[in-house]
Amino acid sequence: MPDYKPEECIYDKSYTCPVCGEPFKAKQVRKGRAKFISNDDDLKPNYTPVQPDYYDVIMCDHCGYAAISSKFDKITLSQQEAIEKEITPLYEKTDYPDVYDVDTAIERYNMALRNCEAKKSKAGEKAYIHLKLAWFCRDKNDKSSEIEHLKLAYSGFNEAFTTEKLPICGLDENTLLYILAATGIEIGYPEESIRILSRLIVKKDLSSRFKQKITLLKDKIKN
Ligand SMILES: [Zn+2]
Repeated sequence: MPDYKPEECIYDKSYTCPVCGEPFKAKQVRKGRAKFISNDDDLKPNYTPVQPDYYDVIMCDHCGYAAISSKFDKITLSQQEAIEKEITPLYEKTDYPDVYDVDTAIERYNMALRNCEAKKSKAGEKAYIHLKLAWFCRDKNDKSSEIEHLKLAYSGFNEAFTTEKLPICGLDENTLLYILAATGIEIGYPEESIRILSRLIVKKDLSSRFKQKITLLKDKIKN
């Protein structure tokens, strides 16, 4: 695989806004151009030379509607009205660079979070955004903000588990349980993490690679 420059990984994708109906373009990462390097313990993926996660919020630059890509088209009429009333009047168009840095990503995800508040999204969608924001704060070495977002992701996913249908934003039950366990370690609930991992490891549908990750995480708690 050749080494691409960051700008060679990005292209403009066309969208039609489901709220205001206007066409707009948003930056996306070309398939196969970003090279996977590693996962952190909580599955945060690390790529080079661009981070695909940074581009996952699609934002209309006419009305300020913003959402993660898996939720972008899933909006009800009353939610559209809420965006028009609560988001659009305050929205000011921002020119983002072609290649997003971590601060651009944080700004766009925060905008998606404000949209979630306006459209009264379920806990799972907000938790997912907080998880990503925690990961971006990790990229900036901003530990206190990372922990703040991890706590919100943790409580939101816990709530989503009992109130929402899985998968949540593409995360299936096993992945979510694993993320909860990994996040619990970071925010000071190791006993709960051990309980989750013990419940997870006896499941029958796990790949050997995933089982190994669970074992490694368990060992991390013990040390
Ligand atoms: Zn719009």
